[in-house]
Amino acid sequence: MKQLQQWILGLLLVTLTAVGLIALQPRATAQNVPATLASAGLTVEELGEGVYGLIASVDFPPTDAGMAICNGGIVIGSDGVLVVDPFQTEALGDLLFETVSTLTDLPVKYVVNTHYHADHTGGNPAAASRQLPIFGRGPIREFMLSRNGESDPNITPPEVIIIGAWDLWLGERQVQIREFEGHSGGTDVIVYVPDTNALIAGDLLFNDRIPYMGDSNIRAWQATMANLIVDYSAALVLPGHGPVTDVTGLERFKTYLADLVDLAEGWKSAGTSQEEAIAIAVPEKYSGYLFQALYPGNLEAAYNQITLGQDDAASIQQYLATQPEAVKAL
Ligand SMILES: [Zn+2]
Repeated sequence: MKQLQQWILGLLLVTLTAVGLIALQPRATAQNVPATLASAGLTVEELGEGVYGLIASVDFPPTDAGMAICNGGIVIGSDGVLVVDPFQTEALGDLLFETVSTLTDLPVKYVVNTHYHADHTGGNPAAASRQLPIFGRGPIREFMLSRNGESDPNITPPEVIIIGAWDLWLGERQVQIREFEGHSGGTDVIVYVPDTNALIAGDLLFNDRIPYMGDSNIRAWQATMANLIVDYSAALVLPGHGPVTDVTGLERFKTYLADLVDLAEGWKSAGTSQEEAIAIAVPEKYSGYLFQALYPGNLEAAYNQITLGQDDAASIQQYLATQPEAVKAL
């Protein structure tokens, strides 16, 4: 009998300890659940020799917080690797580094953020924990620290700031980093690998997706698209969001912006109210795009910038501050 009592007491202790340990575990969140390519909704595609895209498939807003929203990039040189945009969480950033190790034994040397938005930079802690330098452009630190708080609980801004045109070398392989304007208030860069003609465009290109325009400058973005079409006319292109494309995808997006500007100029001559303007449905030719929830924001940005002419940096920042968190910084 005494043995049974001891056994029951022992079982109780074990059970209580187990329950206690479970209760002490950090709550499972998208931050710490290990990700797989399948669980993240990512597929790996080679753009050119040793240049890969991890292509996200999820719509926005995602129903599963563990899915990657943007695309990530990998460039393998002769002595090391550069990775681009480690997604929105540390777990997804870890997945990007793990994917590198399935492709090469070479070490990752550099990490580049194509701009400050949290879906591309929230995974930076995965780079920091590997003691890797993160590169970003212009005001990216200030923007991340002041704007990403709600979407990124562990903001880890780049500690190397790029201003102007930069070349990184991975052994014998040259990687060009170039500034362009339009999507994210002065933090946009592209990453280009000339020897294989592969362009990682960041969010300067949304392909088969309605773009995020919360702090874009539409006219500047149009000028950028015209330049990208000329400068990278023969490149395969990894967009920030959507499938791999080429100059036809750059041209399609240039047309998307032109259509938006045409609408907004029409509102100006017709005296359309903002309320009427932002109620317009997605045009038929873009009805197959993902991210449809972002379209009213596109109309609003176009109304402010083109119809009302409020396209200075201060007005765009004021508009950004009014954006709901759910659609901010994509
Ligand atoms: Zn994005």
